[in-house]
Amino acid sequence: MAVSQRLVVVGGVAAGMSAASKARRVNPELEIVAFERSGYVSYGACGLPYLISGVVPDPRDLIARTPEQFARQGIEARVHHEVVAMDAAAKTVTVRDLERGEEFTLGYGVLVLAAGGTPARPPIPGMELGGIFTLRTVEDGLAIREFLARERPRRAVIVGGGYIGLEMAEAFHRLGLETAVLEMLPQVLPNFDADMAGLVVEELERQGVAIFTEHPVEGFEGDGRVRQVAAAGQTFPADIALLAVGVRPNITLAREAGIALGPTGAVAVDDHLRTNLPDVYAAGDVAEVKHLVTGKPAYIPLGTTANKQGRVAGENAAGGDATFRGVVGTAVVKIFDLEAARTGLTEREAREQGYDVRAIKIQHGTRAHYYPGGSPLHVKLIVEGNGRLLGAQMIGREGAAKRIDVIAAALQAGWTVEELSRLDLSYAPPFSPVWDPILVAANVALR
Ligand code: FAD
Repeated sequence: MAVSQRLVVVGGVAAGMSAASKARRVNPELEIVAFERSGYVSYGACGLPYLISGVVPDPRDLIARTPEQFARQGIEARVHHEVVAMDAAAKTVTVRDLERGEEFTLGYGVLVLAAGGTPARPPIPGMELGGIFTLRTVEDGLAIREFLARERPRRAVIVGGGYIGLEMAEAFHRLGLETAVLEMLPQVLPNFDADMAGLVVEELERQGVAIFTEHPVEGFEGDGRVRQVAAAGQTFPADIALLAVGVRPNITLAREAGIALGPTGAVAVDDHLRTNLPDVYAAGDVAEVKHLVTGKPAYIPLGTTANKQGRVAGENAAGGDATFRGVVGTAVVKIFDLEAARTGLTEREAREQGYDVRAIKIQHGTRAHYYPGGSPLHVKLIVEGNGRLLGAQMIGREGAAKRIDVIAAALQAGWTVEELSRLDLSYAPPFSPVWDPILVAANVALR
């Protein structure tokens, strides 16, 4: 087949394999080759904490489709193959077969860069000790599982109180480990406002997880294996440590190939997910997104976005004309019995962006007051002076995760809080009070 009819995909997880699958549906004639340097393609990294805790028993459960299944669709998915260079002028990639140690060059007609992100690894003394992990790939998850089974650690220290750190705090605690979270900032969940994140801390502490904010880690100490973590002048005993301090886009290949980066440091793309290079698209955690509330580029690496962007990049790479408008920053996390959800801007983010902001906080039941089983839902709405909705956060035992999607839709539509207050939301006693917490919050904001 002519090289011009070949799509090369770099990276075989959410964005890469979504792109490959969509391209195949749009253009059955295209030759599609995806290179993935790890041993797995098309897996749900989001499920890794549940694989480690045992909620998901088998790593195969996380895999949506294997290379053999892709082959049946006419997509060649080659694991243990790393793209080490890209020549945009010659339209070729250099690929290293990691098992055989051989390199070869392959031409492309069109390329989708879906190289994703990597956990940040700040240069903390003692990082080379055994028993210190990051979590990103299936291999990472399996390495942690193996370590837990072999070494039977009793005490875990998690560095970083973001989504992954807190999901892993729950996982370790579920496995019976004494668990402490060390966070450099004054609050956990830095993507939430401090007042809302405080509710999560109460839950973590109630469950027995120790939380230490304003504890930047100074070093890992041990004898070949981590034994303790030093932070803020104290030491914390640790038989296992997890570093979960953020994600960085994998931009080395892009930078060396002359692909332009945006202000966030990730690959800059337009609304068709085109990069600055002809016939080169980018999608997922390697790329920026447009934030639809601010209108500015943002780096919000999430699986939900990677899947959607991958599909758009794949459609366009196959000759289609799809657009990806952007995101409003919607995210949700389960922390023990709590659902913590956010969308748009937090109050802090909105102030930093220079908006004239009002924040409204309410607490309201999730079911009719007489119907058993409800619980309080905390809702915070962020509203601009002119009434435009800027964001929301919700935390509660039930109903936060999916209610936030109503606000996400309102943000995407550019609604005011008054428009939100007029919504025809569903009602029956087992599911909500007659005035849903969203409407209560909107009505309070209107007063
Ligand atoms: P990646 O998943 O990073 O995949 C990129 C792949 O490219 C990698 O496998 C890498 O090996 C490969 N690669 C990189 N460079 C090369 C190269 N040069 N050659 C060949 N291969 C290369 N998101 C949510 O929306 N909700 C959640 O609940 C959620 N939970 C998460 C929990 C955990 C523990 C983790 C780690 C992530 C979670 N995420 C969640 C984020 C989500 O998993 C990512 O946003 C998503 O995987 C991004 O997909 P991607 O394809 O862009 O990148």
